[in-house]
Amino acid sequence: AIEMTQIEKWYGAFQVLHGVDLTVAAGERIVICGPSGSGKSTLIRCINQLEAIQKGSIKVNGTVLDKNAKTVPLDIGMVFQQFNLFPHMTVLENCVLGPVKALKVSKEEATQTAREYLKRVRIPEQADKYPAQLSGGQQQRVAIARALCMRPRIMLFDEPTSALDPEMVKEVLDTMIDLAQDGMTMICVTHEMGFARAVADRVIFMDHGQIVEENSPELFFGNPQHERTKNFLGQIA
Ligand code: ATP
Ligand code: MG
Repeated sequence: AIEMTQIEKWYGAFQVLHGVDLTVAAGERIVICGPSGSGKSTLIRCINQLEAIQKGSIKVNGTVLDKNAKTVPLDIGMVFQQFNLFPHMTVLENCVLGPVKALKVSKEEATQTAREYLKRVRIPEQADKYPAQLSGGQQQRVAIARALCMRPRIMLFDEPTSALDPEMVKEVLDTMIDLAQDGMTMICVTHEMGFARAVADRVIFMDHGQIVEENSPELFFGNPQHERTKNFLGQIA
């Protein structure tokens, strides 16, 4: 579970998060949407300590995130818009590196786990290729497999399909739906409303560094309350 309380974050003099409260239960699936610059990426990057907060507190699985909580980010996997694979390593090497280095798993065991997850994301035959030899959708599925190899309890997705050609979006969303049905705790920044309707327990709308509205997908899309939410949904529909 994740408990974020009154999070405030500044980039220099610019305040990007204004007192955000967000609690995510174990196994819950959250979709975050909102206009560009509203602080969605910043918020989820704070959860795995890619960004520091200046006020408020974040607890992950009972542990308060501060400078001493070095192991907590290992519980959290993240998938980025731009895949962020290591270009000079094969798919398999990308997946094996983290578990061997950070979890001290043997290379044999890490390789076996990696092959299982590559099967899971339906690209076992790509194991020995380099990222540049794969399509965008395949690369993103490698990124998902690589994150899963660390056996995280929480997965964060930051617009994982927005850099993909349209015909590759579905294969990545299907992989994410598959994970969601497995009971993984997921926080997904995405504007894929079909995905949100299919798997989200809650949809959260952010604007100007605040959570403006949150609701079940049915109510969020069917009966948005705030003017800003209505405007936003009108633009992306
Ligand atoms: P998008 O939909 O475009 O990805 P977002 O909702 O993810 O937007 P953030 O990337 O969290 O928004 O950015 C929120 C605000 O903080 C923006 O105004 C952005 O310009 C600013 N910002 C983000 N990263 C930095 C940084 N490293 N230094 C300074 N300002 C930043
Ligand atoms: Mg972003």
